[in-house]
Amino acid sequence: MSWLPSTPEQLELCARRALTHIEVLASNIGARPSGSSAERQALDYVSGLLTGWGYEVQREAVAFAPTPPLNLPYLLGAIALGVAGWVSGEFPWLALALPFFFMILPQWSRWWVQNRKPTHSSENLLAKLDGKRSEPPVLLFCAHIDTARAVPLHHPWLLHLYCRTLDILQRFAWMIFALALLKAWGWPVAPGFLYSVAALGSLGGLWLAGLQLIPSPAEELAHSPGANDNASGVGVLLAVAEELATQTPLPLPIAFLFTTAEESGLYGGRDFVQAHPEWAKTTRVVCVDMVGKGEVLYYVAKEGLFNPLYTDRELQQAFLVANPSLQPLWHTLRSGDYAPFCQAGFRAISLESGGKSLSDWSYHTVFDTVEQINPEMLKKVIKTLSAFLEQSRAG
Ligand SMILES: [Zn+2]
Repeated sequence: MSWLPSTPEQLELCARRALTHIEVLASNIGARPSGSSAERQALDYVSGLLTGWGYEVQREAVAFAPTPPLNLPYLLGAIALGVAGWVSGEFPWLALALPFFFMILPQWSRWWVQNRKPTHSSENLLAKLDGKRSEPPVLLFCAHIDTARAVPLHHPWLLHLYCRTLDILQRFAWMIFALALLKAWGWPVAPGFLYSVAALGSLGGLWLAGLQLIPSPAEELAHSPGANDNASGVGVLLAVAEELATQTPLPLPIAFLFTTAEESGLYGGRDFVQAHPEWAKTTRVVCVDMVGKGEVLYYVAKEGLFNPLYTDRELQQAFLVANPSLQPLWHTLRSGDYAPFCQAGFRAISLESGGKSLSDWSYHTVFDTVEQINPEMLKKVIKTLSAFLEQSRAG
């Protein structure tokens, strides 16, 4: 007998439940910045449901630093791009280093964001079905409950441009690099051409700096409602948790973790691995982050351009068996809760959905609302997790 939705009707019902949770979190409660009363409301909602289904719920304090309005590495990137083309005669090294600087910028920014001193506090929520068992679970499902500060643009057209910002600026950086190289080799370059490329760089720098310097809008517009990021992950895990609660005895020790302050620097995940180092030996971790949009389901395979961080190969294989249509994803701009787990030696992986190109203009914006959620994708994710669980039980 299967212990998770196996018929299309059961799957439909399970996905509908997930969608209801997403509605409550993203529409009724709304934006859930870490440490806010809205996030507490969301934690209470999740905690109330899990307790009702028989889970033992535990809250663990997390200290974090809120997302800074000004990101120092990106501001330096903006200045470098703005001036490099104009001073390539005097400081050619700046133009020659520029594209490489832009390559490491996302990784450097992540490092900078994560190394700020915590000033605020919130909570992670851990739920186990068999609370009396003190040993670590075999499987830990994880989703972050907080939402991000919204990009300070509220026009879809500008947001389409914004989501391609780094792509476009990287091209400007290569153009400045190429002209500086030609000049260094003594090739004659028309001054008009040089000025045009320098001006493009300045425009790009202004755009990047301007995004940082735009004052925050009114509170209700300052944060994303986070329907996809990540009410979708929380909703799917709640639907799975409800199904599992009907299984007695549970074939595998399983726990659920809902983290805080993922968006301001993975504080919840990092605190958790520090507090539970002994779990690394036995507990496999499956994160779900942004699983409600698009038509392709991905597993995060690695992160970062230089010295990349890999997710667990065995889990990758297990998920490919569970759902052979999964596609690998290489995060070069972003990170997620899977990262602290992988760094701490856990076997961990993350699922994420999206379009074929993965560029999503509503990511971290006020437009990340429940209307954007694709119920078919929720079904696909639940089906994949069920097949994975079935296989974990058999193995
Ligand atoms: Zn997220």
